[in-house]
Amino acid sequence: ETPTNSPTIRPINKGVVHRICAGQVIKDLSSAVKELVENSLDAGATSIEIALKEYGEEWFQVVDNGCGISPNNFKVLALKHHTSKLSDFPDLQSLTTFGFRGEALSSLCALANLTVETRTKNESVATHLTFDHSGLLTAEKKTARQVGTTVTVKKLFCNLPVRSKEFSRNIRKEYGKLISLLNAYALIAKGVRFVCTNTTGKNVKSVVLKTQGSSSLKDNIITVFGMNIYNCLEPVAICKSDSCKVEGFLSKPGQGSGRNLGDRQYFFVNDRPVDLPKVSKLVNELYKGANSRQYPIAIMNFIVPTRACDVNVTPDKRKVFFSDECSILHALREGLQEIYSPNNASYSVNKVE
Ligand code: ADP
Ligand code: MG
Repeated sequence: ETPTNSPTIRPINKGVVHRICAGQVIKDLSSAVKELVENSLDAGATSIEIALKEYGEEWFQVVDNGCGISPNNFKVLALKHHTSKLSDFPDLQSLTTFGFRGEALSSLCALANLTVETRTKNESVATHLTFDHSGLLTAEKKTARQVGTTVTVKKLFCNLPVRSKEFSRNIRKEYGKLISLLNAYALIAKGVRFVCTNTTGKNVKSVVLKTQGSSSLKDNIITVFGMNIYNCLEPVAICKSDSCKVEGFLSKPGQGSGRNLGDRQYFFVNDRPVDLPKVSKLVNELYKGANSRQYPIAIMNFIVPTRACDVNVTPDKRKVFFSDECSILHALREGLQEIYSPNNASYSVNKVE
């Protein structure tokens, strides 16, 4: 008859909250490396080197030649919600940087062992910085380095036991996902050289990706995928109104990749790699009309006004809300129907029955 006592509401320990939230920003290997690569791009780097040890299981490192971090930012560098990119809400509508929430470095600190080496053009020597799990700077020493930044992450998920086990068990799959993600950045970033290496066993180092930093999407496609694949693609340019333009490349009807769904499909919004499931579904559906045996390769960049899209939807910023999704999808459908129409003379030769 007596109801149980109502439990007291208490705040969760700060460190625990931090770790829980960090696990949402950094879900896996590729989301961790993605954050570092985006920081390098935001810093204006023209060369980004990603080094992995044991496919990223032991450690990974992103080395850039960007602007570096100035010494008066060292103390706050890895503190949660500390950023040089956004200070007020209205800024969010005009942002052109990948980052803006100041969560990546603090999250990585919470989940791994993080060190940073950095130097700006105003310093003659670089500084090596060590941070603890709460993002506090614990050690600082001088070192030699060119202008730019190196972030090293050791033992990702070391303090999330279940995730850590999952991570080790799925490391090859995670690695595959990471390479595909790096391809996306290498395709879309103009004038940025990417190198990715993986070191296994006793210092057997292999280069898994290497690009020249060309200035066009076309040239980037050729370096990342090769000439043979490029020759199977057709440029797309859809422009219905100022509110949305689509640029990119799609498989010609007879020359899909014939692989699994979603393989080699890269979508971007204003040069930001994102997931666009509805777009992907539409592309696959319309392609089916022209080629029912294969899936198309798709590399498509949606250019929309920054105020007309919101990437601040999920912690990993892979999801996007468009203020006018209906008309974007409609324009895309019309554009693709034209390209894949059975009457499109240029394709009649390649058509697969
Ligand atoms: P955000 O990118 O949202 O600002 P991060 O936690 O990723 O948050 O980074 C925090 C800050 O650290 C950035 O705002 C930037 O000033 C600095 N920073 C991080 N990585 C680099 C880098 N590679 N080069 C220069 N500055 C960096
Ligand atoms: Mg960032």
